[in-house]
Amino acid sequence: MENIIILGTGCAGFTAGIYTARANLNPLILEGRQPGGQLTTTSEVENFPGFPEGVDGYSLMDQLRKQATRFGARVENAFIDKVDFSGDTKILFSGNKKFESKAVIIATGAAPRLLGIPGEKEMYGGKGVTTCATCDGAFYRNMDVIVVGGGDSACEEALFLTRFCSKVTLVHRRDELRASQIMAERTLAHEKIEVVWDSGIQEILPDEAGKTRAITVENLKTNELSEISCKGVFIAIGHVPNTQPFKDILPLDSNGYLIPDQGSQVQTQIPGVYVAGDCADHVYRQAITAAGMGCQAAIDVERWLAEQK
Ligand code: NAP
Repeated sequence: MENIIILGTGCAGFTAGIYTARANLNPLILEGRQPGGQLTTTSEVENFPGFPEGVDGYSLMDQLRKQATRFGARVENAFIDKVDFSGDTKILFSGNKKFESKAVIIATGAAPRLLGIPGEKEMYGGKGVTTCATCDGAFYRNMDVIVVGGGDSACEEALFLTRFCSKVTLVHRRDELRASQIMAERTLAHEKIEVVWDSGIQEILPDEAGKTRAITVENLKTNELSEISCKGVFIAIGHVPNTQPFKDILPLDSNGYLIPDQGSQVQTQIPGVYVAGDCADHVYRQAITAAGMGCQAAIDVERWLAEQK
């Protein structure tokens, strides 16, 4: 049986890995469907302390992984789809494979939210609809693309795409951006970016080969419909926490975020089960706050395990 299993290899998971490994707990970190977490799909991270010139998200996660494994953390690929936390031994299932542990830190992060409109699913991944400009932007060199959303992610995606694309149209459902002031100012000032305000995408339209050729946009104030030609649609409308396996076992809020026990940020109602990062944080959702929660959870686990002896 393991002392501690950490679910997730984002900032929260690896930080918990560094701390529990340095505490000689020999942690096992399980890597889900997005190794390295959300930062691996971001371009430049400018607000992680210690990097005055910024750092690219993939490199930062690679450094965290090296730091955790340097102290003995083991990383294994396994997507956990079911858990049993009813006994003293915490049981985690990945298909037919079973893991057992005294303690668990859930740091499963969040996944991009989709629009749920016609054409989105059909053209997702390779046919023009994507949620990751860093991954796919270069495929749209000299083409016109759409970015949906008004937050920091949408602005970041739009700015990144200006490196490749001829024109970036940002479609936002309100008349002001939610993004931080600095990101909003950069976006609005960019000559390649045009913003279509107060508008929602109704449908993504395919060409004869089944690839994206245009979107239908509705002005939400006038209900007027229009079509915008584009080769790519980048969806950046926020995230949904990856908490499905815990939904009948731990309390979740109405958006699916895990709710820690009263008076703690990281401890759940089940002794020995902790949460960290974006799966439990709908307020800050930053790399550094996820890392901070990973550290808190690791220290609490260490103390809890010591008390069990
Ligand atoms: P977010 O701040 O929640 O913004 C989501 C955006 O999508 C909002 O503008 C929202 O519109 C829009 N939206 C949501 N659902 C929609 C729907 N069904 N149809 C159309 N539009 C929809 O999410 P985020 O931009 O991913 O950012 C998440 C967190 O990460 C934030 O705290 C952000 O500051 C942070 N972040 C930081 C950086 C950075 O500092 N480099 C980069 C990325 C993200 P409304 O505005 O109308 O609600």
